[in-house]
Amino acid sequence: MDIGENARSYEVITYGCQMNVHDSERISGVLQAAGYVRAAGEAQADVVVFNTCAVRENADNRLYGNLGHLAPVKESHPGMMIAVGGCMAQKDRDIVLKKAPWVDVVFGTHNLGHLPLLLERARVEKASQVEILEALEVFPSTLPTVRGSEYAAWVSISVGCNNTCTFCIVPSLRGKETDRRPSDVLAEIKMLVDQGVEEITLLGQNVNTYGVDFGDKEAFGKLLRACGDIAGLERVRFTSPYPKDFTDDVIAAMAQTHNVMPSLHMPLQSGSDKVLREMRRAYRKERFLELIGKVRQAMPDAAITTDIIVGFPGESDADFEETMDVVRQARFAAAFTFQYSKRPGTPAAQRDDQVPAEAVQERYLRLADLVADIAWQENLKQVGRQVEVLFAEGEGRKDADTLRLSGRARDNRLVHVKAPEATALRPRPGDIAEVEITYAAPHHLIADGGLIGLRRTRSGDVWEQAHAPAAGIGLGLPARARG
Ligand code: SF4
Repeated sequence: MDIGENARSYEVITYGCQMNVHDSERISGVLQAAGYVRAAGEAQADVVVFNTCAVRENADNRLYGNLGHLAPVKESHPGMMIAVGGCMAQKDRDIVLKKAPWVDVVFGTHNLGHLPLLLERARVEKASQVEILEALEVFPSTLPTVRGSEYAAWVSISVGCNNTCTFCIVPSLRGKETDRRPSDVLAEIKMLVDQGVEEITLLGQNVNTYGVDFGDKEAFGKLLRACGDIAGLERVRFTSPYPKDFTDDVIAAMAQTHNVMPSLHMPLQSGSDKVLREMRRAYRKERFLELIGKVRQAMPDAAITTDIIVGFPGESDADFEETMDVVRQARFAAAFTFQYSKRPGTPAAQRDDQVPAEAVQERYLRLADLVADIAWQENLKQVGRQVEVLFAEGEGRKDADTLRLSGRARDNRLVHVKAPEATALRPRPGDIAEVEITYAAPHHLIADGGLIGLRRTRSGDVWEQAHAPAAGIGLGLPARARG
């Protein structure tokens, strides 16, 4: 396939979790390696790829709804092709073609690299192709990639999951846990840092059992420590941990490794031991609270976030009150709250004690209010604190006449920083600055006192402001360039 004006264009539409966002970067990578180019703006792409999620009920409706919209578009765009991949494709297989016969390719979570070949075969044979593998062929990390960010990257350390939570469809779609060797993971991280990446997020359905594949129970803690030796790697994050397997060596590695960030997303799911048992989550609320107590002892400034499901079958009012109680004790910086969603093929979906929708809705709203209230109180404690912000891509946001540039603090809180008047002095994506928090909202922080110090991580130039932020932004010539 020749690159140039005849190159076919593509667009990848991603649903779901970070694992899917990471896979979509690989899908773009293999398409570009095969000579496709990313479609520019609204221009209709020659190939539209849906990378789907199967975790929640509305995932089906959304996918088939979008495929329905594309049918007439495809009619009016000769040669246009549609491919459906990801967890929904892995689950539905040729049902996708029954529901949307105008789809050309259905591929799964284990064969991303085959997409260009399947598209070619569908074009040549003028017939839809379905290829779903039961197990991983090659680690997606070995495939070419097109990263969504210049300075941040996802690095998968494992795929699949050995747990069997009764509401979750992931293990049946992504298989049992398969681990990458630490040397491969570290080699990829070093390569990314050489390409200018400063922040990496280690990815796995359950990062805490990393190493189970090669018999090293402490492999994850060791991996975090090894990241500490990589020069130029500013920040290390990871997702998702699992409370039962979150061991003291990992807490120590987080606290003692300079570039591992004090932010932890630890899914609770429910605060009721009865519900946790029926979810087949192998921990109880005391263990969960004890764990985050240990984390806070080791890292007092750590921000802890979580996932909570309300309305799991059989959940009583008393069970729900236990969840509210754990939330009051845990004081999460934020929580992603979900209404239970029946997933065909999961044990919980077969239960006949589904909670009525009104009760689920009422609990969901009460929990969301409590979580937002606590998040705000925790954010208010940040006012007056000096924090380090890594600036994100994007134009920032204009509130009235104030332009603010956005980034993340070490604890992953979102911070909007008042931009210096002079464009030349403004932080760029990937730059790191010290700022003082001057205002707190429920879901973000504001720093309007100017930059205390700025590090242009790409050029290495460092600016420091001698005096307190009250004086506003008095950044003169660079204090010194990093040696
Ligand atoms: S830990 Fe449970 S919820 Fe998470 S991916 Fe595994 S089975 Fe699903």
